[in-house]
Amino acid sequence: MAMVITDECISCGSCEPECPNTAITAGDTKYLIDPEKCTECVGAGDEPKCVAACPTEGSIIPDPDRRESREELEAKFARLH
Ligand code: SF4
Repeated sequence: MAMVITDECISCGSCEPECPNTAITAGDTKYLIDPEKCTECVGAGDEPKCVAACPTEGSIIPDPDRRESREELEAKFARLH
């Protein structure tokens, strides 16, 4: 499952440099996560680094429309690196 950034985002940019997959970019009103690149940090750590860096609550959540198994996320990470 990829993570998604909600409208709670305050556009501080804290998350962007933390992503091991360069999945995060600045959008017009909030930051955006490319679901083709986000592995929930599977392959690079135990928890989403963007969530750990975010100063707000609930701005970065698992995208319910993007459910992927751990194996799928590991394969995505391997493709990206
Ligand atoms: Fe990047 Fe990890 Fe956040 Fe996904 S969960 S956007 S891979 S930092």
